[in-house]
Amino acid sequence: MLKIEHIGIAVKDLEKSNELFKALLGRPHYKIEEVPTEGVNTSFFMVGNNKIELLEATKPDSPIAKFIEKRGEGTHHIAFAVNDIRSEMARLEKEGFILLNKEPKPGADNKLVCFLHPKSTNGVLIELCQDKPE
Ligand code: ZN
Repeated sequence: MLKIEHIGIAVKDLEKSNELFKALLGRPHYKIEEVPTEGVNTSFFMVGNNKIELLEATKPDSPIAKFIEKRGEGTHHIAFAVNDIRSEMARLEKEGFILLNKEPKPGADNKLVCFLHPKSTNGVLIELCQDKPE
C-alpha cells in the first residue's frame, strides 16, 4: 500500500454536497464522473495529496443507495493506492481478506479498483486502486 488515495463519502444529493464540501475545504471539486457499472455519480476534491470522493446513487439498487438506506449518509470507504493491484489482491487474499471482485475493475478517476469485504476489515469497506496503465 502506498498511501491513502481517497476517502469515499456516501451522499444523498451530490449537488448540495458539492457546495457543502466546497465551503468546508475552501475549493471546489475538480471533476464529476459517473460510473454506470456501479450506479454512482462521483465528484472529487483535492486535499493536499489526498482526495475526497463523494458518491451519489444513480439508481435505487445501487450499492450507495443501499448503504444510505441502512446507515445514512457518511463515510463509505477508504481507498489505498497500490502499484500493482493484482499482486496486492493475491497477497491480501492469502492473508484471509475477502475480495469483492476477483478481477480488477474500472473505477472512477482513471483507476483499476478492487474492494475488500467489510466483514474481513473491521467493518470498513476498503478499496485498492491503481492508476490505469496508459
Ligand atoms: Zn473510491
